[in-house]
Amino acid sequence: MKKVLKALALLMAAVLVLACFAGCSGQSGLDQIKEKGELVMLTNAAFPPFEYVENDEVVGVDIDIANEIAKELGVKLTVQNMEFDLIVDYIKAGKGDMGAAGMTVTDERKQQVDFSVEYITSTQYVIVPAGTDTETFELDGKVIGVQEGTTGDVYYADDPDVIKAKEVKKYKSAIDAAADMLLGRVDCVIIDELPAKKITAQNEGKMICYDPGYEPESYAIAVQKGNTELLEVINTVLQRLMDEGKIQEYVINHS
Ligand code: GLN
Repeated sequence: MKKVLKALALLMAAVLVLACFAGCSGQSGLDQIKEKGELVMLTNAAFPPFEYVENDEVVGVDIDIANEIAKELGVKLTVQNMEFDLIVDYIKAGKGDMGAAGMTVTDERKQQVDFSVEYITSTQYVIVPAGTDTETFELDGKVIGVQEGTTGDVYYADDPDVIKAKEVKKYKSAIDAAADMLLGRVDCVIIDELPAKKITAQNEGKMICYDPGYEPESYAIAVQKGNTELLEVINTVLQRLMDEGKIQEYVINHS
């Protein structure tokens, strides 16, 4: 009896090992995407014109780009709307195939994920209440609203070597931060150029935005480190879209 049990245990162990080999057979990221038939894009849909919600659907420049990548792969696109500052962690952990969220390439992020070719250049803008003299407006000493974990937060508002803010209030989106500015809870908001322009256009007469002259930034798509096969497909599609002037077209369509 003991022998039978031992043999059974051995058999079960062998089955488990085999099952694992089959499941973790060194399949590439690309094979896995094709097998499940979907490309999972992580984004934060409060960043118009790159990603925003319209009629209960997430749309925008990054979604148009991601649709082209999914088409190239022959799979459907699934968009997962989440908090911006968790996207890099999720990609790192393999929870999602790519992060496309108007994401600026930074040295810190490069240590955690791999980036595609850059497809948009941007810079940080400042949103202030209408009537503010932007020529003389000083960011030092102000209560500044930002979207948490963005470059506007980490590299500008929250860096005392750049801005000596009185306080930095962190929000889930720049839209929320701008709404709080209208309630007088922050003096201004720092966010990327096109979202700043879109948010102010949607609040005409209440707020304006200006360019404080910071460094240019470039957006790219993030994938898990080492997922070179997927990255190659993404780069091919991005390069084609840029060569065809499609990305500019998407920007115009969503602005
Ligand atoms: N470009 C900024 C960043 O990467 C903001 C992106 C966003 O809020 N979606 O930090």
